[in-house]
Amino acid sequence: MAEKPECAKLTAEAGDLLALNRPAENAELWDFVRSWLRRFQKTDGDKAAERFVCLWAAVLAWAAKGVKDIGRILDEVYLAHCLARDQKLAERFANLYKIDKDFRKRIERFITAAPVFQVAWLQKNAVGEWDPGQDRRAFIVKAFEKDPLAGAFAPACARDHVQADEKIPVDWEHVFSMIAQVRYNLFHGGKNYRNSGERQFLEPAMAILWEVWRFELPSGILLSRVSWLRALLRSGFLAQEVDNKITLAEETEANKKYLQKLLAAGHFGTLKNNILLLNEPYVEESYWLRAVDSSHGSAEMGNADDLAIMDTHMAGLVRWLNQIGIGTELSCDGHGEKKPSFIAIDEESARLAAWLLNFRVPQFNPSGKTVKYAGAGPNPNAAKPAERLRRMLDAAEWLAKNRDDLKVMVAAMRRVSAPKTPPKPEPVPTREQGLKPKS
Ligand SMILES: [Zn+2]
Repeated sequence: MAEKPECAKLTAEAGDLLALNRPAENAELWDFVRSWLRRFQKTDGDKAAERFVCLWAAVLAWAAKGVKDIGRILDEVYLAHCLARDQKLAERFANLYKIDKDFRKRIERFITAAPVFQVAWLQKNAVGEWDPGQDRRAFIVKAFEKDPLAGAFAPACARDHVQADEKIPVDWEHVFSMIAQVRYNLFHGGKNYRNSGERQFLEPAMAILWEVWRFELPSGILLSRVSWLRALLRSGFLAQEVDNKITLAEETEANKKYLQKLLAAGHFGTLKNNILLLNEPYVEESYWLRAVDSSHGSAEMGNADDLAIMDTHMAGLVRWLNQIGIGTELSCDGHGEKKPSFIAIDEESARLAAWLLNFRVPQFNPSGKTVKYAGAGPNPNAAKPAERLRRMLDAAEWLAKNRDDLKVMVAAMRRVSAPKTPPKPEPVPTREQGLKPKS
């Protein structure tokens, strides 16, 4: 007889806790966290186990500062239950699942393979290893026939769900309990863990934990946290700061509607009477961009004012070019595969755009009406996909901040008429013809 799944046991140890306490000031904690994260981020790719341990140490240290029962901060099960219960992490998990399709795919793959078994138990009970090339479901059924005790698999309610013939719920508490099991395996899985089928969970578990938790870090540790005004300008919105408030009074109705959609998608806040009402003063830019990525459409041809149809990383650049008097027809951020580029309405506009954008650092090449990111320069990172996308946002921000001056400049450049006749060549004495000019 199948029992009703008792999901409550995933967080039972957390008592009546709803959310971890998040102290505003905690320099000591962040110093500690920073040192672990440095190791988590620096260790090279194949040292997944080491990286996981570093991330886990940082997360647990953070959690220990936020629990109710200080006497139990060395009790890892208690800390894990508190983390699984935390409403903010749960909400963020749900949001990421909603707006980020890569995240969603990762979670689905992870949870479809659930539960994660305790490697030591598998070995002791001669269940054998799961071969990742084989059906996970059949392996799970076989393992459950050996009647594992609580603690031998996670989530703890997995067997109930399987027996009730239902899917394991896609939520933070179920996923986190699996992540915690991955960590126990890492410490207690023994020598065989390295080649164990259960090790397949290691990298996704680490990635999920990092994705969800990292937004807790203060801005000093995460450099991509930006003010809302900057985030909006970089994405092409006509935003302005007036009396410490961000107003979109100058923005078009269509873009305001689009912004409202983005704010709702990421649970950032809302727009009321053209004033932005925000939940947080800063935003982690990659999170904002993911909301944009999941919400914008695309169009072959479009009005350069209409942000909803433009590529995530190109909308700002194109919008601001348009605002300073350089029209465009088409743009593409390359989607991390190709180089970002845009097509201006005519060759002169393309040359003008490249000339302006190259003022600080030469990085764009015009060819006909097309202006393409060249990705050159002394920094070899400039050619990496993530870096060139970031540069498009930087270029947008630069245009936005200097838009008044640049607008005047573009207008002036357009008034400078082209020479009607080719300039006369310098008179050259006949005797020296064919020789190199002397310097
Ligand atoms: Zn459950």
